[in-house]
Amino acid sequence: MNILVINCGSSSIKAAVINAHNGSSVLTMKVERIHDKALITINGTSVDCPDSGHEAVLNFALPLIKKHLGDQKLSGVGHRVVHGGDKFDMPVLIDAEVENVIKNVSVLAPLHNPVNLLGITVAQKVFADLPHVAVFDTSFHQTMPRRAVTYALPKHLREKHSIRRYGFHGTSHEYVANLAAKHLKADLKTLRIITCHLGNGSSIAAVEYGRSVETSMGMTPLEGLVMGTRSGDVDPGALIHLANEEEMSVYELNQMLNKKSGLTGLSGVGNDMRDIIEKSSDGDDDCRLALQVFTHRLRKYIGAYSAVMGGVDAIVFTGGIGENSSVVRHRSTQRLDYLGAVINEDKNHDVKLSAENPVQEFGMNHSRVKLMAVKTNEQFAIAQETLRIIEEKNKVNTTPTIPIAVSGRHIHLTQEAVDALFGKGYELTVKAPLSQPKQFACNEQVTIVGPKNKIERVRILGPTRPKNQLEISRTDEFFIGIDAPVRASGKVENSPGIKLIGPVGEYQMKEGVICAWRHIHMTPEDADLFGVQDKDIVDVEVTNGLRPLTFGNVLVRVSPKYALEMHIDTDEANAAELPRYSEGVLNKTDGSAKLITKKNKN
Ligand code: ADP
Repeated sequence: MNILVINCGSSSIKAAVINAHNGSSVLTMKVERIHDKALITINGTSVDCPDSGHEAVLNFALPLIKKHLGDQKLSGVGHRVVHGGDKFDMPVLIDAEVENVIKNVSVLAPLHNPVNLLGITVAQKVFADLPHVAVFDTSFHQTMPRRAVTYALPKHLREKHSIRRYGFHGTSHEYVANLAAKHLKADLKTLRIITCHLGNGSSIAAVEYGRSVETSMGMTPLEGLVMGTRSGDVDPGALIHLANEEEMSVYELNQMLNKKSGLTGLSGVGNDMRDIIEKSSDGDDDCRLALQVFTHRLRKYIGAYSAVMGGVDAIVFTGGIGENSSVVRHRSTQRLDYLGAVINEDKNHDVKLSAENPVQEFGMNHSRVKLMAVKTNEQFAIAQETLRIIEEKNKVNTTPTIPIAVSGRHIHLTQEAVDALFGKGYELTVKAPLSQPKQFACNEQVTIVGPKNKIERVRILGPTRPKNQLEISRTDEFFIGIDAPVRASGKVENSPGIKLIGPVGEYQMKEGVICAWRHIHMTPEDADLFGVQDKDIVDVEVTNGLRPLTFGNVLVRVSPKYALEMHIDTDEANAAELPRYSEGVLNKTDGSAKLITKKNKN
């Protein structure tokens, strides 16, 4: 299972053929000086490239890999893509639509995404018969909650320019968190881990029960920790000051922040942590300060992230600095006893990681929080992910997919009810169209009043119907004090009624409160495809939600008016902890249907 992994960066191109099962490398290639006398080193032997520039170099280098491999077969190609925006929460098989999205988010990573895409385009030409998979630096962090990704900037600007925190180095954070859990013989879903990726670029992540909930890089890889040449956190006011006082242009500020700051700017001796440590022990004050600022900021983030997760079980160090520098590990984990993290100086000093020994602990035995150095391997991680997606595609290929929609509480009203609540002759107005043809969410909302409690702002769905129907979850029923039956939409006979309050008046529904029977809408063509009929009742197994479960008793509804979609309510979605935009495949087996959710692919 050999996978070609391509990392087409702005200043260098790295490629390797990796065995996706054991991580061993079959071939490695590196291209340096892309724009001037490009030099290709393949399996240790250097070759001059006749042309320079990304496209020419790729067109020369990738066929060279093919030639080197000879008879050795590849199963696929995995491409590192820096920015997936908010569109990709997992690696994805590349097709024209995916390429388009990568292109569209280039505005967020202008130095990286266009060259990543060039790598994809040329590789697709050279390895035309292989599946190509994009693995995003951002996707692991797509689980961050809204409060963690939102900058306190004006809403219209945030929305217009997709300004939010995305996070990077996701492949590495996820990989080392998994290795740490494996080492601790624990399920990642039971651990709170802080992962510190310290290389030329550095970031830290809070991985709470397997999901990234915070990370220090933001909209771009500039925010957060001190890095080789990047500043990390700076008061934006300082930049405004420099623009005013030094008349620095946007370009100059960009260059300063990305190329001349960080360890380079602090130390005056460059970005290599080895030199900085050596010179600081010789008494160089700038290097001392560089080391202090670097580790102080890291320790500050460790404290912040344990607060974010309400505690921490392991702190992991990785990347060139995290894996190799006992000084940095020491300085950033000292005085963490209050957290329950106690460093063992001897073990820290003796850390020596290798492919055979990629995880080592350096905490005291009694340290409640495990301190660990873990060797990252982004190429292996990309190869594993690529293989997983290819295998999934081969499985899924035979079975069509079904999107799953989660219905919040809502109400369908008669015109009579609308008249009473909003005024005679009032027409409902469209807020947003729904997936089912001609259906729409209205701007209008009502209050529902049960015997125990009321719920305000219940959304009306239009257009008006011959019968009133309020669809609520079991949790809502308990809250308002009503026992409503589980019914298919439209079957409201002998169901309870409820009082509604609108801006103009009140209306007493005599019946119509139901808990919607979970169902799948489909067209007759879809029904043929799945081998089911209208009113069939099937079992639906959701295996890829965070809490896998089987929904029994799912009603199939067939009509040429419908669009294919499974509808469940909020209680059911929460029970399975479905990711947003879930999608499934339905297998008819032994008279039951099987639905496997997948994370959204674009
Ligand atoms: P990248 O982010 O480019 O993948 P790496 O993860 O390879 O970078 O990390 C490169 C950094 O690791 C360099 O700044 C280098 O100084 C640092 N490094 C490597 N070995 C050591 C060491 N023994 N002590 C301190 N720093 C080290």
